[in-house]
Parts: sequence; structure tokens; C-alpha cells
Amino acid sequence: MPREGSIDVLVVGSGAAGLAASVSAVSAGARVALATKTTLQANNSSKAQGGIQAALGADDSPDLHADDVFRSSHDSADRELVSVLTTEAPSAIAWLEELGCAFTRHSVIGGPSGRRGGYRLARCGGASRKRLLQVGDRTGHAITKALRAQHEGGDAETLAHHRLEALERRGAGWRASFATPDGVRTVSAGAVVLASGGRCYAEAGLRGELSTNHPNATGETTRIACDAGAEARDLDALQYHPNGGAWPATMQGYSIPETTRSYGAVLLNADGEEFTDSLGPRDEVSQAIFDEVEAGRGVATADGRPAVLLDTTRISASDAEVSLPYMLRRYRGAGIDPLSEPLLTYPVLHYQNGGLVIDTRAETTLEGLFACGEIAGGTHGRNRMMGNSLLECVVFGRRAGAAAAEQARS
Ligand SMILES: Cc1cc2nc3c(=O)[nH]c(=O)nc-3n(C[C@H](O)[C@H](O)[C@H](O)COP(=O)(O)OP(=O)(O)OC[C@H]3O[C@@H](n4cnc5c(N)ncnc54)[C@H](O)[C@@H]3O)c2cc1C
Repeated sequence: MPREGSIDVLVVGSGAAGLAASVSAVSAGARVALATKTTLQANNSSKAQGGIQAALGADDSPDLHADDVFRSSHDSADRELVSVLTTEAPSAIAWLEELGCAFTRHSVIGGPSGRRGGYRLARCGGASRKRLLQVGDRTGHAITKALRAQHEGGDAETLAHHRLEALERRGAGWRASFATPDGVRTVSAGAVVLASGGRCYAEAGLRGELSTNHPNATGETTRIACDAGAEARDLDALQYHPNGGAWPATMQGYSIPETTRSYGAVLLNADGEEFTDSLGPRDEVSQAIFDEVEAGRGVATADGRPAVLLDTTRISASDAEVSLPYMLRRYRGAGIDPLSEPLLTYPVLHYQNGGLVIDTRAETTLEGLFACGEIAGGTHGRNRMMGNSLLECVVFGRRAGAAAAEQARS
């Protein structure tokens, strides 16, 4: 594309949401360019560990999934968006599998060769059913790998090292300006999909706190969209992951997967007492940890940071080997065996719950400007459940790509 290029659909961001939007817009027949701040692989989605939710258990349904989302959001989520999220979850999983993402299944001992067992489902915080699909504890890596292969094998153009700096209306479409290593570049598009994630890395820097996020999670795109006139909601609602690694120092900023608690780990105070429901909604579990430390019942790390204990010794070795191999490797590499001793943990900044207001087609309040993934608000209200972010990226990324292609055509 030349320095002043023109395209049907411009996608900004190469996480799960942007990749899903790009793939979907290409299959709807649009000419697509995907711009991203650094490389295709640099994003939060690739770091996601625990899993992705979908009501696939025999005792489950999209309605039960939606009830759990509302309860965890304290009724602040957008009902229409949640209904889309939970209803389309099973087909999103089927689509990812078609693209090559192999979710962990139970092995069928003695079954005919090639026969696969059912999905290995876990219960995550705030959920009434086991609903979390996993690829070990590197689910985001597996999902983005499959989406990236599809994106790269298709007709979309990738614009790496393009940082969005400004957006303005141009006729029926949009003009975007990017900072690149070779200077400013502009791209005109019939429709734009913003999929540039949240801002927790930058926010943690401002607050002097730790974050699980990739350094590219700086949030300027939300401001750019708001400057162009888009509406946002719940931007003040940032989520702490209850279980940041507190010690050793090399694990600070690592999020100990919530699946540790799905498979039996519990939170303990300095006296060895369980002080909260370890599988409650994230905001409640994080607050319980803050309160326990505030009340003087926490422990201190060797470098003087506050912490409580996560008793991972209650996880069976077989569950850990299947669902937590990466966590085991990381901690054992740092000299601690989570199956023999509890981990020190404290909440860390993790997720931007709010974002740009969208409708069920993922269109913002501005025509032809779409948003999906962490940059969009409403689906989780003010408190997201684990496993619903990757799901939101895929469900609304696909919707955004298809709707943007249609918009560009019209
Ligand atoms: C450690 C960790 C573990 C997690 N575990 C889970 C989990 O198990 N399950 C779950 O559902 N969720 C999990 N999450 C949350 C989830 O991964 C993210 O919220 C989600 O993947 C966000 O996807 P996204 O595509 O919206 O944004 P991202 O994946 O963050 O991608 C944003 C993209 O936009 C680009 N970008 C940013 N600004 C600009 C700009 N100005 N110009 C151009 N490009 C820009 C970035 O470089 C990046 O490519 C986890 C998050 C982290 C950090």
C-alpha cells in the first residue's frame, strides 16, 4: 500500500479481536489492511492463559452463562451484548477448532485410535457451571496462533510498526494517520475496526503498581476515538487479577492462572485460614485480599511487598500436568515447586472492564467505526469474568469484521 493508501476495511490491533475481525472481513469479500503498533505477535491475547468460556457442558446453557455474567458484573453489563456473547460462544469454539485450535479434551482410555473425549471443562470464578475450555495454560497463545495463520494465509495486508495517532471522518468513511519508522502514513477506509486493547500497562505505570499486561497496552486508541466523538462507558472500572505473582521477584507481574483455584488451590492468610470464597467473582476476591492485608493478616515477601498465600499444594499432580504445565515450569524454573509449597500472591492490574460503547454489530456510536475486544465496553459491565475476554474477542471480532465489510460496500 502506498503512503496514502485506500482500503475497504482497516483493522487496528493484532490481538485475538483484530485477527478475528480481519479474517471475517476478508471472508466477507472486503479488501482489508491490519495495522498494529509493533509486531503481529505483540499483544495481551497471546499472553492469556486460563481459557475461554462456552456453555458446552451437558448441564449448561447460554442462558446460565448469561446469568453468571450479569451476577458477576453486579447487573451492570449490557443485556443484548451478553446475550450475543453467550449464545454465539459454542459456534465461536467450533470456528476456532476449524482454524486449528485444539482445545484440551479428556483422553479416551482404550477407545478406538483417533477417538477424542469430551472437552476438559473447568469452573472459573463466579461461574455456576464448569464452562472453561483450555489449551493447557497457554490458551491465548493457541487461539492467536490459529487466527494469525488464517490472517497471514489470506488476502489481508499487514501493516506492522504502524501506531495509530489520529482518526478523522472523510466523506462516508474514515482517514487514519499512523506513526511508522519511515514517518507518517495515512490510510483511508470505508470502515475502521478498532481492536487495540486496553490500557492497564500504562495505568500501572502511572500508579506505581504491577500489571500483567503487555507494554503495548497503553490505551491511546480509546482517547483517539473519543476525540473523534465516540462514546465510552465504565472507563474507571479497572480489574485487578486476584493472583499476581508476589515472589520471587522474577514472577512479579505474572498472573497465576485462575485455573489453579478451579483445580483446588485456596487463598490463606498468615494464620493459614481461608478468608474468602476463592472462586468468587474477581472483584470480590481481590477486595478480600486487600482487606486481609489491611487488617494485618497478610504476609510480606522478601522484598517487603504485601502478599497472602495461595495453597497450590492442594492441586493434584495430574490436574496440574494437564492444565497448568506452563505455570509449573515458570515457578520450578524460579526455584519454587507449587505442588510442594504455597505461592505468595497479591492482586495486580489486569483488565479494562469498560470501553467504547458498541451495539450488537460492534459498531460504536459513530457510523462506520467499529470496536471489539478489550477496547469495547458493555459486555462485562464493571467486572469481567475470567474466560469471557477471549470469547468477546472472537464473537465480536467476527461480527465487527463482517459488519465493517458490509458497511464499506454500502
Ligand atoms: C497475562 C494475561 C492472562 C489472561 N488470561 C485470560 C484468560 O485466560 N482468558 C480470557 O478470556 N482472557 C484473559 N486475559 C485477557 C485477554 O487476554 C485480553 O483482554 C484480550 O486478549 C484482549 O484482546 P484484544 O484483541 O482486545 O487486545 P490485545 O490482545 O491487547 O491486542 C491489542 C493490539 O492493539 C495494538 N495496539 C495498541 N495500541 C495501538 C495503536 N495506537 N496503534 C496500532 N496498534 C495498537 C497492540 O499492539 C496489540 O496488537 C488475560 C490477559 C493477560 C494480560
